[in-house]
Amino acid sequence: MKKEAQSASGDADSAETRRAQRKAVRGSHTLCLSWIPGLALAYPSPWLKLTKLALSAFSPHDFDLKSPEPIALTRCPELFRPTPYNDSVLTWGSRVLVACSVVLLATAACSGDRAEKPMRFDGQSAMRYAQAQMQFGPRVPGTPGAQRAGDWIITEMRARADTVIVQSWTHTTADGKQLPMRNILARFRPGLTNRILYLTHWDTRPVSDNSTNLGERQLPVPGANDGASGVALFVALADALKRTPPAEGVDLLFVDGEDYGSFGPPVVDALIGSTYFASHPPEPGYKPMFGVLWDMIGDADLVIKKEPYSIDAAPEVVERVWRTAAELGHDDVFVPAPPYGYGITDDHLPLIQAGMRVIDVIDLEYAYHHRPTDTIDKISARSLSIVGEVAEALLR
Ligand SMILES: [Zn+2]
Repeated sequence: MKKEAQSASGDADSAETRRAQRKAVRGSHTLCLSWIPGLALAYPSPWLKLTKLALSAFSPHDFDLKSPEPIALTRCPELFRPTPYNDSVLTWGSRVLVACSVVLLATAACSGDRAEKPMRFDGQSAMRYAQAQMQFGPRVPGTPGAQRAGDWIITEMRARADTVIVQSWTHTTADGKQLPMRNILARFRPGLTNRILYLTHWDTRPVSDNSTNLGERQLPVPGANDGASGVALFVALADALKRTPPAEGVDLLFVDGEDYGSFGPPVVDALIGSTYFASHPPEPGYKPMFGVLWDMIGDADLVIKKEPYSIDAAPEVVERVWRTAAELGHDDVFVPAPPYGYGITDDHLPLIQAGMRVIDVIDLEYAYHHRPTDTIDKISARSLSIVGEVAEALLR
């Protein structure tokens, strides 16, 4: 993909500063949660009353949990007023029962939350799926590496999805070369009309044209972040969807030929798979509720800004993704502001032009972009895990 109308605004933060800011935000999340045990300790009477009710059902003794007058605290007396109980009545045995009840109630509350939103995404597995792709070498269309990687994606998806559709065609490049192409569409709950579309490109770029070393520019990009990370995300997501099917229909689309040619303008021999899919949908009138393109999401120093074309085309989808990330505590990675100072030409554009509401989630501020140094050591399980949690939560 490519930046357009680049602006310097918002790009000046050093990686160091961003890491420090994110650490501070994470610290504040910990502080936000620390009031829970404190409040339970300072104000035990509701737990005790609940326990009394429970115990009275099977105990012959009447547990008197009434308290003497509370002792006023100097700070926040209404919120943190302690309620001492009568030691002579509440025996050590009943205290054990109280403690057990508290633990049981807390466990029930936590497991209830998990039942509502089971999060299954495994970042370590995603990292292994990225490593597996790197074993194939560069995945440039028309090469043995691409043949093996495409076959691998199809096999992995057939083991997890309900339906797998492979679109195969030949693309003729501007200079007359014939390129074999494959889009792979893995569908979960294919019978449902309400669907969410996720897409990522699985090919890698044939040239490292961002390299400052002229001798390296003809080398293919290894594509750990630019190629393998999105595919790894989807395979690990498919693991989660196989274990716990999504609420709506989900389509995971692996597009070919995103990174082959020039991003222009005009675009020539790039965005090939997404352009093909836009004019060859899986069924007539295919219209997902919304779509998200996940591209370059494995950077170990991950910062994802909102993308201007996405904000223009589907602002409600951008809002939904960033709100979900914030609810999960990942607003240090999915930063609320500022957006990129340039539009990004990427696989969402052909789908937007076909009338779909699709946005681009991408970290384009990646020092190894379109260089021979886009290798596996530049991505991390932690980054994959953060994006995976967000991607999964959007489907629950
Ligand atoms: Zn690229």
